[in-house]
Amino acid sequence: MKKLSGKTALITGAARGIGRGIARRFAAEGANVVIVDLDRAGAQSAAEEVAAEFEVQALALRADVGSAADNADMIAQAVARFGELDILVCNAGIVRPGKPLEDITPEQWQQVIDVNLLGYVYATASFIPHAKRRKSGKIIYMASVAGQVGGVAAEVTYSVTKAGVLCLTKATAKQLGAWNINVNAIAPGTIETAMTDVLNYSPEVKKGIPLGRYGEVDDISAAALFLASEDSKYATGATLDVNGGLFMR
Ligand code: NAD
Repeated sequence: MKKLSGKTALITGAARGIGRGIARRFAAEGANVVIVDLDRAGAQSAAEEVAAEFEVQALALRADVGSAADNADMIAQAVARFGELDILVCNAGIVRPGKPLEDITPEQWQQVIDVNLLGYVYATASFIPHAKRRKSGKIIYMASVAGQVGGVAAEVTYSVTKAGVLCLTKATAKQLGAWNINVNAIAPGTIETAMTDVLNYSPEVKKGIPLGRYGEVDDISAAALFLASEDSKYATGATLDVNGGLFMR
């Protein structure tokens, strides 16, 4: 029996990278998937790939998660198409290469807060009425080791928003437990994606990883599957560190 048969999952930022990997892993376990991204063509190609490879239904939606209206619309469209929405994965995120704090403009702060933090808040707010009605739901937030330690390479805006996500995980888990809604986070270390290409970490970062390598998308999608499945039904408000031991706490 596949772990997510009959379930529907919506994953933001799923045109590529970690989000795409999660969509693939969930589909392989029998879930129908809603692939949301700013990149419409990328979302469409991911949806076509997943539907063809895993024989599930996949819907591609273009949305900017920094917009409350787009978040409401994506949840409404997912429910209209599939009837049910069981799993919400807030994964879309942006990072800007580290700058000294005094050089970061208010506009830059606002953009990163809108996408990385308020985007998760808005998606959750739109999902809650649906999940409460059903008395079930799984919410998974993509945090980061950066939010635990203040950045891997001094990405201040990014780290601050990811720390906010860690607190959001606990705050919403407390509010939603009575409705049987689990809220958990994953805090990846450095995972090989387009995002890490942009950051171009120094070799020192890799030397600081006890497992001696950067993570792969599959390392994170495996954690997401655990948090999306009934295997984690007694976990809520938790953050799963998947970081090869980087900055072990
Ligand atoms: P990525 O840049 O490869 O992919 C991010 C996806 O999000 C892209 O498809 C992009 O188009 C989409 N996106 C960006 N802004 C959006 C918006 N406003 N609305 C909708 N979609 C938007 O990044 P990734 O490495 O796959 O990261 C995914 C998540 O994992 C992010 O939240 C990131 O912060 C987190 N994370 C990544 C790493 C890493 O090392 N790669 C480490 C820790 C946490």
